[in-house]
Amino acid sequence: VKAEGRNGWRFYRPEMDAQLQSRIEMEHDLRQALADNQFQLFYQPLLNLDTHRIVSFEALLRWHHPLRGMVSPAEFIPVAEDCGLIGQLGEWVLNQATRTAALWPEAWRVAVNISPLQFRHKSLVGLVNRALKVSGLSPARLELEITESVILEDETHNLAILNAIRALGVRIAMDDFGTGYSSLSYLRTFPFDKIKIDQSFVRDLPHDKNALSIVRAITDMAQSLGVLITAEGVETEAQMEALKALNCGEAQGYLIGRPAPDISAYVQPLAVCYG
Ligand code: C2E
Ligand code: CA
Ligand code: CA
Ligand code: CA
Repeated sequence: VKAEGRNGWRFYRPEMDAQLQSRIEMEHDLRQALADNQFQLFYQPLLNLDTHRIVSFEALLRWHHPLRGMVSPAEFIPVAEDCGLIGQLGEWVLNQATRTAALWPEAWRVAVNISPLQFRHKSLVGLVNRALKVSGLSPARLELEITESVILEDETHNLAILNAIRALGVRIAMDDFGTGYSSLSYLRTFPFDKIKIDQSFVRDLPHDKNALSIVRAITDMAQSLGVLITAEGVETEAQMEALKALNCGEAQGYLIGRPAPDISAYVQPLAVCYG
C-alpha cells in the first residue's frame, strides 16, 4: 500500500507505476535533450488564398530521441510544461525560429507557438525583444500563436504581456480557434491579429452542413472585425475550394505542404504558386 498521493489514490496499482516511471524517464531525457541539442524546428507553409502565395511558416518543434526516434510534441510538450522545462525549451524555439527566419526572403513571416506557462516565468516580453534584436528579424515578420487558456489564466497579467509584445510590432494569433469554451468572447478582450480555425472544423468540409456553417460564421465575424483567418489541417482540394468560397484568407495543411526541416523548395518562384 502506497501513501496517499495527490490524486487521492492509495492502493498499489502497477499501471500507475508504469506511467509514473515513463514520466520520470521522459523528464530525465528532456533535460538531456536540452543539453545535447536533440531538438529541431520543422516549418510548415501558410498560403494566402487570394494571392496564391506563401506568406509565412509555422515553426513546429521536433525531438529526435536517441533511442525512441522522433517523439511528437503532443507527447513531450505537456511533460516539459509539468516539469518546468518549457521555459528553457520555449526560449530555444524563439531564438532558433527568429534566427532562421531572418535568413528567409523578406516576404515570409515565421509563426512560433507559445505555451501558456511561458507567460508565468521570466519576462516573455524581454525574451521576444532579445530574440528580435539578436536575430535582426523585423518584428513585423514574427507572429506568436497562443491558445485561449493564456487569457483564461491570470487575465490581467497576461493581457498586459500580450499588449506589450504587440507594441513591439509582433503579431498575435489565436490558435485552435473554436475548440475552447468561450473563444468568441476573447476577441472582445484582446485584439488578435489572426485566428486559426482548428482542423477539427476543416476536416468535415465541404459536405458537413454544421462544419460549413461554423466556418462561415467564423470567417464572417473575422471579416467584420478585420481579423485575419487561417484554416488549419487543409488536406484536400475540396476543402480548399470550400474555404476560398467562404472567403477564408489563408490555408495551412498537408495539401499545401507538410512540416519540413528545410524550406528551400518554396524559394523557387514556380514552387510558391499553388493551383
Ligand atoms: P498546433 O499548433 O495546432 O500545430 C498544428 C499541428 O497540426 C502540427 O502538429 C502539424 O504538423 C499538424 N498538421 C498540419 N497540417 C495538417 C494536416 O493537413 N492534417 C493533419 N492531420 N495535421 C496537420 P505537430 O507538429 O505534431 O504539433 C502538435 C502540437 O504541438 C501543436 O499543435 C502545438 O500545440 C504543439 N507544438 C508544436 N511545436 C511547439 C512549440 O515550439 N512550442 C509549443 N509550446 N508547442 C508546440
Ligand atoms: Ca500552432
Ligand atoms: Ca492549431
Ligand atoms: Ca492543435
